[in-house]
Amino acid sequence: MASDKHYTLAGVMGWPVAHSRSPAIHGHWIRQYGLHGSYVLLPVQPEHLGDAVRGLRALGFAGCNLTIPHKVAAMSLVDRVDPLAARIGAINTLVVEKDGTLAGYNTDAYGYIQSLLDAQPDWRADAGPVTVLGAGGAARAILVALAERGAKDIRLCNRSPDKAQALAAEFGAPIRAIPWEQRAEALDGCALLVNTTSLGMKGQAPLEISLDRLPRQALVSDIIYVPLETPLLAAARARGHVAVDGLGMLLNQARPAFEHWFGVRPELTPELRRLIEATL
Ligand code: NAP
Repeated sequence: MASDKHYTLAGVMGWPVAHSRSPAIHGHWIRQYGLHGSYVLLPVQPEHLGDAVRGLRALGFAGCNLTIPHKVAAMSLVDRVDPLAARIGAINTLVVEKDGTLAGYNTDAYGYIQSLLDAQPDWRADAGPVTVLGAGGAARAILVALAERGAKDIRLCNRSPDKAQALAAEFGAPIRAIPWEQRAEALDGCALLVNTTSLGMKGQAPLEISLDRLPRQALVSDIIYVPLETPLLAAARARGHVAVDGLGMLLNQARPAFEHWFGVRPELTPELRRLIEATL
């Protein structure tokens, strides 16, 4: 039997967190790679976040994922924030280093880009203008990811114009705010359309947008994963676009986090995708 010292413990800290698919994803990899460890749910209320984060080391955790509502608040509780995460303004992965200090990372940007590359291996961020719908937490990681990959023109449309303007001002070029009412016109000549709003999610109204101006070779991506096929993706597929659902981002963001804690960069297999799809 392996010793406690070699038992790797990780989890996901959030509130609420019971719905999280992360234990199923990481648990699958722990079994697949024959590792000694586990990944657990960590339901932590916002007022206890400081105690919970500081307690990770004493409890023997290698680290944890952070989800709503802790991604921003946790930044001030770690010893080091990775530069990409600092730019995004949120951490979703916390690592307890060998010396006991805490480091914060954001793997959502990697997860998003990888989901596009999985769908279209020769995808390039500089293939043409990009329209991003939504300016919430998820949009921040995607905007930074696209800009870092070399996107030259990012048109950001959000229902509340002040939020899009604030993000465009914070991140600077190539991101510019476009009024929500002009979202259909923004698609002119675009190589990529991304929905980061919650419109189209189960229980929410569908996203209303005409795709008439979107060139046929453009990629259409929706980061929602419940349902997998949003009305936007169905409309895009009907026009012949390559459509990328949000499950790829969810699965891919878990890979570098798993590697931080367990020392193995796990593969994303069709079997894992089917396993998680069955839970949606
Ligand atoms: P958030 O911070 O609450 O942002 C929500 C965004 O949706 C805002 O831009 C908001 O616009 C917009 N919105 C909400 N209701 C709207 C409406 N009726 N009309 C127009 N715009 C509306 O949420 P988030 O964390 O960014 O998450 C957004 C979505 O991404 C969720 O569906 C979430 O499940 C999904 N997500 C997926 C992944 C993944 O791994 N695939 C990761 C993170 C998030 P206002 O600013 O005007 O309110």
